[in-house]
Amino acid sequence: MIVIIMGPPGAGKGTQAKILAEKFNLLHLSTGEILRNEIDNGSDLGLKAQRFMDRGNLVPDHLVLEMIEKIIISNLDMGFIFDGFPRTVPQSEGLDSLLDRLKLKINYVLNISLDKNILVKRLVERAKSSGRADDSEEVIIKRQDVYEELTKPLIDYYRHEVTQINGDGSIEEVSKRILSQINR
Ligand code: AMP
Repeated sequence: MIVIIMGPPGAGKGTQAKILAEKFNLLHLSTGEILRNEIDNGSDLGLKAQRFMDRGNLVPDHLVLEMIEKIIISNLDMGFIFDGFPRTVPQSEGLDSLLDRLKLKINYVLNISLDKNILVKRLVERAKSSGRADDSEEVIIKRQDVYEELTKPLIDYYRHEVTQINGDGSIEEVSKRILSQINR
């Protein structure tokens, strides 16, 4: 099974992706987390990505696509849940063409939505304990703007397959909403 979980920063994608990955035995691919690991390891990719991430900008599409392609190709026996990827139309097109070549299909595209004021509040709260370099208030707002401009158009890109999920509520409530769609 291949699942894409979308939504603005702070909507709870990561938390919900972990729950689904465990339940359906999927490889959880959080591009943000993978990139932060690359930075911690001081890899070439990490060095390239860091200056974009620290400012709340997106890492260039070709770097993210190469990174994801390598991981998919070395884990072909697994299902996947993509969290924070694709983030732009070119990334979606790149993923489509990779999946086509591999004769794989996306089963679910979930879009978690939440009011912008709640998002910023959640992220400011998370910032107190996350230790993430991109969790300052200025960068949080920048990341919301980048989402609106470059990632939100993906809702239209996936309009034929997207399932809308209301992200307001507890982790358990949102998780139940998602599972009710997947277990259909
Ligand atoms: P996240 O953990 O998903 O909030 O991602 C943190 C940061 O990593 C983002 O603000 C981007 O700089 C970078 N990033 C994560 N995923 C992607 C992606 N698919 N494309 C480009 N940049 C990404």
